[in-house]
Amino acid sequence: MKLVFRVTSSQRLIFVEQAIEQMLAFRQRSWWQAEAGGVLLGRHLLDTNDVVVDEVTTPQKSDRRSRFGFFRSKKHSTIAQSRWSEEASTVAYLGLWHTHPEPDPTPSGVDRQDWKQALSKDIFHGDMLFFPIVGIERIRVWAMTTNGAFFELKEEEKDG
Ligand SMILES: [Zn+2]
Repeated sequence: MKLVFRVTSSQRLIFVEQAIEQMLAFRQRSWWQAEAGGVLLGRHLLDTNDVVVDEVTTPQKSDRRSRFGFFRSKKHSTIAQSRWSEEASTVAYLGLWHTHPEPDPTPSGVDRQDWKQALSKDIFHGDMLFFPIVGIERIRVWAMTTNGAFFELKEEEKDG
């Protein structure tokens, strides 16, 4: 099953099943499970304007993880970089994901700071990055643009 979110009237963000499963595997369903996260990797479709998340990086040994915090180590950009080289520069960096120990997740102040920093420091194509938060019961996705706009994406009808 894919997850499809509306970005603008002419653009959608699509998570393929593999990417969803990779993130859901780290859902914090028990009190002892720490936050997890990584980067989103995928494609900008040329014909439709849509953006597809094909895979995500998952927690690395070098990350610092706790119940209410996730510090992403540099290892994730190294992986993203090597996926980019392996796939003849077709794998794009699209954003960052992490989990929250709450059913219906909302971003913290720290999250928004982290995302702002990603927009100012990371190299990416286009004018925005995407930031899913994986809660216990649902995944919600926010977008932030290079000119500082910040909004939540609305989920579309389930597809496939
Ligand atoms: Zn968070």
